[in-house]
Amino acid sequence: MTVWDNIRGHSERVEWLRRAIQRNRLSHGYVFAGKEGIGKRLFARAVAQCLFCQRHADEELLACGECSACKQVLAGTHPDLHEVGRPAGKAELPIAAFLGPPENRGREGLCYDLSRLPMAGDRKIAIIDDASAMNDEAANAFLKTLEEPPPKALIMLIVDNLDALLPTIRSRCQVIRFDPLLPADLAGLMLQHEWVKEPAEAAALSELSDGSLAVAAQLLDPALRELRDALYRELASPNFNAIELTEQLTSGLEAIGGDSATTRRNAVWLIRFGLEFFRSAAMHLSGQQSGGVIPAAVSFAQRFDGQSPEDLEFIMSLFERVAETERHIDMNIAVPRCLEVLCHELGQKLRPAAR
Ligand SMILES: [Zn+2]
Repeated sequence: MTVWDNIRGHSERVEWLRRAIQRNRLSHGYVFAGKEGIGKRLFARAVAQCLFCQRHADEELLACGECSACKQVLAGTHPDLHEVGRPAGKAELPIAAFLGPPENRGREGLCYDLSRLPMAGDRKIAIIDDASAMNDEAANAFLKTLEEPPPKALIMLIVDNLDALLPTIRSRCQVIRFDPLLPADLAGLMLQHEWVKEPAEAAALSELSDGSLAVAAQLLDPALRELRDALYRELASPNFNAIELTEQLTSGLEAIGGDSATTRRNAVWLIRFGLEFFRSAAMHLSGQQSGGVIPAAVSFAQRFDGQSPEDLEFIMSLFERVAETERHIDMNIAVPRCLEVLCHELGQKLRPAAR
């Protein structure tokens, strides 16, 4: 078991970095760019652990996990590893993170920490999370450190959106792009963290999660899952009740709460659950195996004999109708209105007489 075994999907980047170190080409500044929740920060910490580990040479890019340096990195107490990030609930990464609070400006903060001699080894390492949230003042302060870094310093910046990082900072670093996780890696992580118990559920969720563990975590919100189950129950019911479903979804989203952006995001998840339902039903009907099987969708599909192409077409038309609602939500149409119209139209299509 090495430090890299816990990090999925990024082995090419580990290899790339290892070769850079072996050729003595390790740069002092890197930007790790890629969507939220794919392990960029974990990766940065692993790099730091490898470079500090007392039992492995730098060029191995490995960590034992047992020496005092490894333990300090894992505990977040290594004296030469400095991490800053956007404070909880704040939109910006403030200058205080780099230069200390006003009353102690220049005598605290990341720039100060990096300017001091290493205490344990021969280098200082910094990880800047949410680096694109630096305000101009913070960026200016940090730029000086980036332009004249201390010897052997390694600064790793983490950004979800590379375009949002100030060009002056970006141009002084090497950019390493991280891909979204593959569904199999995501499903593996969900099972490993015991977020879900059933491999089939992990597989189904991973298909919806856009390659991001952060999205998977949002989808696993118990209240949202309850709404998902209510949606599946109603869609599978032979007595589909549009009014009841609208009411359930709207009040459910309201109960979850959050600002309008959160409600919109949760509504989109519900829509994606609906898409997954009809996709799963269509796959079942056409005799194909899908990644994750939704039992309610299978029982829905069993209503059709599966022999006539019209059945499949009908299910795909339901899928299309749900997909249209995702576009409506994206266009900022009020969520309750979107859901009401969707449920009403699904009801019309699903009424036995209509078929
Ligand atoms: Zn070690």
